[in-house]
Amino acid sequence: MVKQEIYNLTYGELATALAQRNISTFHVDRVWQGLYRNLAHSFHDVRHLRDDVLEHLRGNYRVSVPKIVKAQRSSDGFTQKYLLALDDGREIETVIMRYTGRRDRPEDTLRFTACISTQAGCAMGCVFCATGQMGFQRHLTAGEIVGQIVFVQRELQKNGHELRNIVLMGMGEPLHNYDNTMKAIDILTDHKGLALAPRRITLSTVGLPHGIRRLADDGRPINLAVSLHGATDAERAALVPPARRWPLAELIEACRYYAAQRERRIFFEWTLIAYENDTPEQAHQLGQLLQGMAAHVNVIPLNPTDGYDGRPSDPARVKAFQAILKSYGLPSTVRQRRGIDIAAGCGQLAAGS
Ligand code: SAH
Ligand code: SF4
Repeated sequence: MVKQEIYNLTYGELATALAQRNISTFHVDRVWQGLYRNLAHSFHDVRHLRDDVLEHLRGNYRVSVPKIVKAQRSSDGFTQKYLLALDDGREIETVIMRYTGRRDRPEDTLRFTACISTQAGCAMGCVFCATGQMGFQRHLTAGEIVGQIVFVQRELQKNGHELRNIVLMGMGEPLHNYDNTMKAIDILTDHKGLALAPRRITLSTVGLPHGIRRLADDGRPINLAVSLHGATDAERAALVPPARRWPLAELIEACRYYAAQRERRIFFEWTLIAYENDTPEQAHQLGQLLQGMAAHVNVIPLNPTDGYDGRPSDPARVKAFQAILKSYGLPSTVRQRRGIDIAAGCGQLAAGS
């Protein structure tokens, strides 16, 4: 019999399966506590399990997280990138970023964010993205998404650090792998387990309107970031192929629906490419497009990838772009550049790089 991956099960699913064996939720609680709070590597390490329960778990379930193939640390020490192997040998990348917080808030001085993958490769083909350049391999299971966080927690625990934020901004398009991604979020936020705060989880999407509407209706209080990169259909389609199928009008309508349903502001991401999408015209068009919406723009000067020639906008052009957005009442932030020397920045993740 093929053993089931335990990290692929919600608390409810495990409880239901074990109830059929007359194993009570008392034991399910211990398993979850052991796996997610104490980060046990095997059922053996889960404390106070009855022998027959341990036997049943060992015979029917596996405890396995993606295996480390390679670890790289950026020269400034703020970013760690891990190449991880899945059970079928496919590889993904996961990144841990450290931020130094405000000096007047000592509890903020070490904030760790995990950037995790939802697919091996990506089917969306954005021209400037290394993951897009490698094509689609497969969806990750919920257990493989959760497994990355368990891996990260174990790494952080070695130094007594804690994870604060999760960004679904690694390899892949999370809304293309909707069900597994949502199941993973449910497992990660379950108060009996890791109990991560949904408000500290940000899902970044290339902008699939049907997925955004579904997310709006589903009611999970996570943050949403939508990758725009172009404020007209033609400009956007040149960078983001899905824009050919889903015009901007449809995407923005879905975003307005999300903002209204969830009563939350939306983050919009804009990779700034010199003289491509950093012109004053584009900034004005973006301002008009988002006017009146509770929105925040994250601008990301282009990170280099092998398959794309564009250059990042220089600081003066970034500032000018932001100033125009401000004139429309649109706040914006420049994403800190992180881990570029180890290709761990936005859009630089690709297996084996
Ligand atoms: N598929 C999702 C999440 C992963 S990409 C999405 O597209 O949103 C995370 C972010 O990195 C996206 O905003 C993406 O557009 C951006 N990105 C991709 N390649 C980049 C590059 N070379 N430089 C800077 N940002 C990039
Ligand atoms: Fe996929 Fe996002 Fe990269 Fe586009 S930017 S190819 S959607 S991972």
